[in-house]
Amino acid sequence: MNIAIAGAGIAGGYLARLLEQRGISPDVYDAMDHDTCCRCRSCGWGAPMGIEPYLASIGLELDDYLLEPMNTMNFDGLVAKTPLCTLDKPAILRDLTGGIRLNRKNLGPDDAAGYDILVDATGIARALLPPCRSDLTLPTIQHRVAVESCNGEDLPAGVYGNQIPGLGYLWVFPLGKNQYHIGVGGIGNVRHTTLMDRFYQGLAGRFSFTTLCSCHGVIRVASPYYSTPFYSRKTREDGTQQLVIGVGESIGTVSPFTGEGIVYSLECARMVADSLQDPESYTRSVLARFAWMKKERETLDYVLSHGQKNGPRLRDRWRFFRNAQRSGIGLPMREAFRRMGGLSRWVEGPDR
Ligand SMILES: Cc1cc2nc3c(=O)[nH]c(=O)nc-3n(C[C@H](O)[C@H](O)[C@H](O)COP(=O)(O)OP(=O)(O)OC[C@H]3O[C@@H](n4cnc5c(N)ncnc54)[C@H](O)[C@@H]3O)c2cc1C
Repeated sequence: MNIAIAGAGIAGGYLARLLEQRGISPDVYDAMDHDTCCRCRSCGWGAPMGIEPYLASIGLELDDYLLEPMNTMNFDGLVAKTPLCTLDKPAILRDLTGGIRLNRKNLGPDDAAGYDILVDATGIARALLPPCRSDLTLPTIQHRVAVESCNGEDLPAGVYGNQIPGLGYLWVFPLGKNQYHIGVGGIGNVRHTTLMDRFYQGLAGRFSFTTLCSCHGVIRVASPYYSTPFYSRKTREDGTQQLVIGVGESIGTVSPFTGEGIVYSLECARMVADSLQDPESYTRSVLARFAWMKKERETLDYVLSHGQKNGPRLRDRWRFFRNAQRSGIGLPMREAFRRMGGLSRWVEGPDR
């Protein structure tokens, strides 16, 4: 059985390593022609410390990639404890792909024909699978900035929903050495660059910001349920069957509320490695494991279509609280419920 993996991001790279451990050597394809300074897809590089066992399972050590712990984070003015950190993602990707058969080109139809199984790990491109049943994507902009404090205070890690008049949020992730990823993701009538400028201007008396690089991106916030089908079969010219199966963000393993996809893509890669030849069982497992993402997606749909009039419902507030709980963020229930009320403000937006 020969296997090609299209995409050497977190999901594709990790899957290749897991398959190698099981005695299968896939061919991996990725042109890696990202228009970014770090040469990988736009990403904040934030992850839970709970990523450690995933890395350890393929012989990588968290400490080698840890940039900054984010033990506390500012959520719209409320400081909460978190188990989050930033990681040197380009270094992880480099080490994931070291030692595997990586072709630095995208998988074309001529190459594809020779494989029994094609894995679509192409993230937002979803290059091999049919379209999602109901896609939803969040456009983003992110800067890497050098920050200088005017009075010795530190710029805290933070996520700010109330900065965004559309549906979305602004994040501030420290990378160490006074550098930060600062970005905006927003759906609807959101002027990303204006919002970034407004954030910088709001802090102008306390910090000076120098932009080192800037990139645009898109996050699939559709949820796995709305990103089905996860696989398809083709009959090749010689009459044999070829299986195409998706993993990671190509099939929506991203939290629709937060855009967090690194650790869920690793988990999804593990699931596909366990049931590569049984796509029905894989589909069932992914849908069951990430059923909460479907609910979050449904909240986004509701807020986008009704939020302006009605504001978030009790169930939306509950999902927001559960999201924080799941991520290990110490946001008390009352606060989470109150803050979720901000969603209606995001949609109404005093000025865009
Ligand atoms: C601005 C931004 C900030 C984010 N911040 C965070 C964060 O802080 N924490 C977090 O957990 N998640 C974050 N995410 C989401 C996270 O980056 C993704 O969910 C995660 O990287 C998905 O991994 P993946 O391997 O499935 O896809 P990707 O990382 O997108 O990898 C897909 C790979 O496929 C390749 N490819 C595309 N087409 C083809 C083709 N035809 N043939 C071969 N290869 C192809 C691409 O070059 C790419 O390398 C962020 C996303 C964005 C856009």
